[in-house]
Order: sequence, then C-alpha cells, then structure tokens
Amino acid sequence: MLKVRDLVVNYGAIQAVKGVSFDVQQGEIVTLIGANGAGKSTLLHTISGLMRPVSGSIHYLDQPIQKTAAPKIVRAGISQVPEGRHIFPGLSVQENLQMGAFLRQDRGQLAQTYQQVYDYFPILKKRRHQDAATLSGGEQQMLAMGRALMAQPKLMLLDEPSMGLAPIFINEIFEIIKAINQAGTTVLLIEQNANQALKIADRGYVLASGQVKLSGRGSELLANSEVQKAYLGG
Ligand code: ATP
Repeated sequence: MLKVRDLVVNYGAIQAVKGVSFDVQQGEIVTLIGANGAGKSTLLHTISGLMRPVSGSIHYLDQPIQKTAAPKIVRAGISQVPEGRHIFPGLSVQENLQMGAFLRQDRGQLAQTYQQVYDYFPILKKRRHQDAATLSGGEQQMLAMGRALMAQPKLMLLDEPSMGLAPIFINEIFEIIKAINQAGTTVLLIEQNANQALKIADRGYVLASGQVKLSGRGSELLANSEVQKAYLGG
C-alpha cells in the first residue's frame, strides 16, 4: 500500500532522513521506533505532503506521491494524527471532528462517521458540546484520532499517540488503534514507547540517526537483544 524508497529529507543543511526504505502492506500495523531525533516525525510529515524529500520516492497505492500536495494526499486516503494532538481550542469537540471531514465529498455519509468515532470514543460523545481545550491529555489524543477518522482514511499515520499520557490512557489508546486496524484501516505508528508499539504491530522498523537499523516482525523485534537494550530498558 505504501512503498518508501531511499528517502532523503533535509532541514536546510541538516540531513534528518538519510536514505530510508520501508513498506506498509494493506491491513497491517507497522511501527517505526527509535529515539528522539531519529527522523520519525520527519518521515511522517514527508508522507503526508507537509515536507518535500530531496530524493527518493513514496508510492501509495502504486502512485508516486512525493510531490503531491497535502490536501490531495488526505483525499486519497492518508490521514495524520500529529504529535502533540494539535486540537483546535475554542471549538467544541464536535466542531473539531467536523474539521477532519473538511475534504469529504460525500457529506451525506457524515452522520454515520460521527457515530463510528463516538463508538470508538464514547467520552467524545459525552463531551461533544464542550470546548476541546477543556479535555484531558488522553481525551485530546482521542479527539485527534477521531478527527483523523472523520476523513475515512485507508492509511492512518499516528505520531507518538502515547506521549505524555497516563498509563491507563496509554493502554486504551493502543487497544483502540488495534480495533481501528481490525475494522480495516491500515496503520503506520510512530512511537518512543517501543514495547507497546511492537506488541500491537505486525512489523516494525528501528530508526536511528535517520536510517533504518533493523526491521522484522513485531514479536521478533520485541525479543531482539539489541532492541531490548536500546529501546526496551532490558
Ligand atoms: P521526536 O520524537 O523528537 O519527534 P523524531 O525521531 O521524530 O524525534 P525528527 O523530529 O524527525 O525525529 O528529527 C530528525 C532530525 O531532524 C533531528 O536531528 C532533529 O534535530 C532535526 N530537526 C527536526 N525538526 C527540525 C527543524 N524544524 N529544523 C531543523 N532541524 C530539525
């Protein structure tokens, strides 16, 4: 579904992504793990069209998208849940969700999608008329995921969904990612919480200093002694 080849992405003179290749097959959960600054967020921003690569290619459903504008990428079925949620304060929960449907052409189907989102996240339904800024961190993460789902993505890009959350919310968020995937959405998940991410992932890639250092099935990487030492505190 997604094929990234030899991708190089710079910030001015700083090379953040140094020739990365990886694949995501339809139906999978794939995780990119790695320390702070490994290049994970930069990769996601490049896939979603917010940054341009210097070289390399990104194919989505067999079409090259490395030069495609971000709104067109959303319309083609890729939605990003950004690091730090970036919800819209001053708008209600429901209005925030509505923003996620901004590019939808089938507006007649929206009620059904709201219902799907509220089924995943009943707390959002309860708080739908509340200012989104009044939500807790975990609830804001749910809202950011719900907003991405409003676009009915085929591929969902999640940037550090567990960051800064209480353990109880972390477990819930990972359970919901699994459920969203089982309902048919392919997931590319970036995480510093390698343990949780590898547990739910079909496959994973370990990034360090802008390069892929290791890859394998989630369970293989969990059991890998190098991964355990570097990322799992083992
Ligand atoms: P994090 O978990 O901190 O987001 P990451 O793995 O997502 O880490 P990136 O944010 O992609 O890493 O950063 C990769 C490299 O690019 C790092 O060396 C970082 O310092 C650099 N970088 C990131 N954003 C910028 C920027 N706006 N300007 C210059 N350099 C940047």
